[in-house]
Amino acid sequence: MLKDEPHFSRRLAAVSESKTTRIFAQAQEMRRQGREIISLAVGEPDFETPMPIIAATRQALTAQHTRYGPVPGEPALRERLAQAFDGYTADNILVTNGAKQALYSLFQVLCDPGDEVILAKPCWVSFTEQIVLAGGRPVLVETGEAFELDPERIRRAITPRTRAILINSPNNPTGAVYKIEAIMATADLAAERGLYLISDEAYHAYTFGRPHMPALVVSPDRARVVTVRSFSKHYNMTGFRLGYVAADKSVIQALSRLQSHTTGNVCTFAQHGALAALEMDQGIVAERCAELQRRRDLALARTRELFPCTAGRGAFYLFPDVRGRLRNGETSADLAARLLDQAGVALVPGEAFHGPGHIRISFGTGPETLTRAFDKIREVL
Ligand code: PMP
Ligand code: GLU
Repeated sequence: MLKDEPHFSRRLAAVSESKTTRIFAQAQEMRRQGREIISLAVGEPDFETPMPIIAATRQALTAQHTRYGPVPGEPALRERLAQAFDGYTADNILVTNGAKQALYSLFQVLCDPGDEVILAKPCWVSFTEQIVLAGGRPVLVETGEAFELDPERIRRAITPRTRAILINSPNNPTGAVYKIEAIMATADLAAERGLYLISDEAYHAYTFGRPHMPALVVSPDRARVVTVRSFSKHYNMTGFRLGYVAADKSVIQALSRLQSHTTGNVCTFAQHGALAALEMDQGIVAERCAELQRRRDLALARTRELFPCTAGRGAFYLFPDVRGRLRNGETSADLAARLLDQAGVALVPGEAFHGPGHIRISFGTGPETLTRAFDKIREVL
C-alpha cells in the first residue's frame, strides 16, 4: 500500500454503500445536469408533512426547545408511544434517529462476533450490512409463494449461534404483508428457542386488505419481542429522522446506554413535531393509505403489462420478476441502468435486496407521474 493511500477499518471494508440511497443521489445528479428523470426508486411517498406537525415543530422552535434532552427521548413522547402497546410504559420506549439507527443499535447490543440473525430474503438493503457492522452473520432464508414468510425455512436455519430472527411486514421491497399464522408460528419458534424476535414495522400504517399483525400481540414470550417503528413513512416525516423501539425495559436500557455514546437524544424540536403527529386527527393517514392503494392498483396493472408481478398488499413497493425481459447476459441491475439511461426512469434493482432477477418499483408518486414512467419503460422495452 502506498504510504499516503487512505486506510479505513476492516469493518467498513466489509460493507458497501446503501444501494437505495446511491440511486436517489444518482437520479438527483442526472436531474441537476438537466436530464428529465422520473424516480420510482425513492422509498417515500410524495405527500407533504401534515400541517399540525409542522406547526408544532415551529412552535417548539419558537419556545426554544433547542437544547439537549433525555437520551431515550422526551418523556411525553415516550409515554404517548407506549399507549399503543398493551402493558408498556415510557420505560419500554426508546426514541431513535429513524428506524435505521434503531436497527443499527439493536444489532450492536445483541450480537457478539459470529452471532447469527435469521431473516427472509428479499430484504431491505441495510439489514444485512448493519448485522455485519455489528460483527454478526446474516443468515438469509428464502420466502415462500408470493414472498410469504416461511417459518419452516426459518426453523431449519436455526443453529446454536442464532441470536435473533428478524421479520419485516409490510415488507420492503416486496410489499408482502405476512399472514397472521406465519407470524404466530415464527413468534412461537423464537419463544421456544429463546431467540429475540425483531419486528420491523416501519410500514405498519399502509396495508391494503390484509391487516397488519404486530409480533408483540401474538408472541408467547413478550420479553423477547423487539418492535421497531418509524415516523418516516407513517407521517411523511422522512427528513425529521424519527423512529422508535418498543421492547422489554432491559433492551431499552441497553440501547439507551449505547445511544448515550453515539447520538445522544434525537433532535428535541423534531420530537415535539412527532408528539403532534400522534395527537392529530389520524384521518389523514387513512386517506393517504387509500390513495396509496389506488396507486398500487394502477402500478400493478401497468407492471403486469410488462412483467409477472405479485400483488403487494402493503408499503408502497412492487417487486416484479424481470427475467423474461433480460437480454443475453443482462442482469436486473443492467436492466435498471438501461431504464435509467434510455427511459429516464430510476428504479432499484433486486440485487440491492438480495433478490436478483427483479426490480423494485415504488408507487409513492402520483398517478400522472406513474403513468408517464410506465409509458417510457414500455417504450424502451
Ligand atoms: N426499515 C425498513 C423496512 C425501511 O424500508 C426503512 C427505510 N424507510 C427503514 C427501516 C428506516 O426508516 P427510517 O430510518 O427512515 O425510519
Ligand atoms: N428505506 C427506504 C428505501 O428502501 C429509504 C432509503 C433507505 O434508507 O434505504 O428506499
